[in-house]
Amino acid sequence: MRVDHEIDVAVIGAGQAGLSAAYFLRRAGVPAESGFVVLDHGERPGGAWQHRWPLLRMGKVHGIHDLPGMALGAVDRRLPASEVVSAYFDRYENAFDLPVRRPVDVRSVGLTGDGRFLVRSATESWLARGVLNATGTWDKPFRPYYPGVESFRGPQPHTVDYTGAQEFAGRRVVVVGGGTSAVQLLLEIAEVAAETTWVTRRPPVFRDAEFTPEFGRAVVAEVDRRVRGGKPPGSVSGLTGLQLTPEVRAAIREGILDRRPMFQRVTPEGVRWADGTEQRADVILWATGFRAALDHLAPLRLREPGGGIRMDGTRVVAQPRLHLLGYGPSASTIGANRAGRAAVRELLAQLDRPLGPVTGGRARSTGAVDAA
Ligand SMILES: Cc1cc2nc3c(=O)[nH]c(=O)nc-3n(C[C@H](O)[C@H](O)[C@H](O)COP(=O)(O)OP(=O)(O)OC[C@H]3O[C@@H](n4cnc5c(N)ncnc54)[C@H](O)[C@@H]3O)c2cc1C
Repeated sequence: MRVDHEIDVAVIGAGQAGLSAAYFLRRAGVPAESGFVVLDHGERPGGAWQHRWPLLRMGKVHGIHDLPGMALGAVDRRLPASEVVSAYFDRYENAFDLPVRRPVDVRSVGLTGDGRFLVRSATESWLARGVLNATGTWDKPFRPYYPGVESFRGPQPHTVDYTGAQEFAGRRVVVVGGGTSAVQLLLEIAEVAAETTWVTRRPPVFRDAEFTPEFGRAVVAEVDRRVRGGKPPGSVSGLTGLQLTPEVRAAIREGILDRRPMFQRVTPEGVRWADGTEQRADVILWATGFRAALDHLAPLRLREPGGGIRMDGTRVVAQPRLHLLGYGPSASTIGANRAGRAAVRELLAQLDRPLGPVTGGRARSTGAVDAA
């Protein structure tokens, strides 16, 4: 087993959650580099925000919570969110001298016989007493399978591929998905497309009432309940509903948000429903969401039979010195901040105690490092 670095804490991911954790590690006096590092496979600062499409302007995002200790400050609402947030994260990493290493793609996290984690990229390895995993969802786009999908003649991009509505100009577009991103993209595309069709699995629920802090807390509590029970976190917009903004109201009036149920199959020319009706299409856009990007944790065998990971707050029940930040109830910019603080406090208290071979839970402890 080759080990290049020995540290106390490995933070994986430098988005909102990872940077928040790094800030609180710094504040707790954990030395940078010798005590902790942040490993991130992005080319530049910004986490998932660096990939948001150029037309997503600051005025259109739901609200980006400040990172702890340094406010974003006033910004021009017409600027692309990707640029603004990348520049902010860059300033933040420098201001607090955070030891972010990039691009480092973490391929696997295994366990050693003495209860430490071996974090590996293709070329380097870190032996860590604790891991704060903050890898978000952007790297794991989800595409449901429908029969005939491979026969379709046109392109089938996902939200991750979206760079702007111009590529849909003059085309017949089927947009699949019932979340906020699907609605946002559909509204942009409808302005230039020849025709749009909106397809969702469940009937959309539009929410007229204001998104109050109490409502937000109730949604977070419901997701927390799910992951404590070992269930997958599920879709947040399934719980919050779709906000009835003035643009959304106008789109409903104009028939753009006239939703059709899920089709039964994809054909070479479009999509077909169970009743035999068809819609011809040049493009199918899969705005069908994301899953937690946790493949590198596979050697730890954390998944419950239902596919979720049993959590207690940010802590993985089966692996107490592993925390998942930005997962489940903390999958928002405000939640990621809080998760960073809570996880650092809890992990550092755990690390005060001596490490021992890990027993119980679902993880294997082999005396050697589990291969991915
Ligand atoms: C389209 C869209 C719009 C959104 N709008 C809002 C909004 O307005 N307000 C809001 O609060 N939330 C919003 N969210 C949710 C938002 O993205 C999250 O709340 C938050 O930004 C996620 O932060 P994070 O740190 O958990 O993840 P990310 O920002 O995704 O950061 C994860 C980091 O981990 C790195 N990484 C991943 N895998 C590896 C690996 N194996 N090795 C090394 N590095 C790795 C990535 O490069 C990335 O830098 C939106 C989400 C989407 C998809």
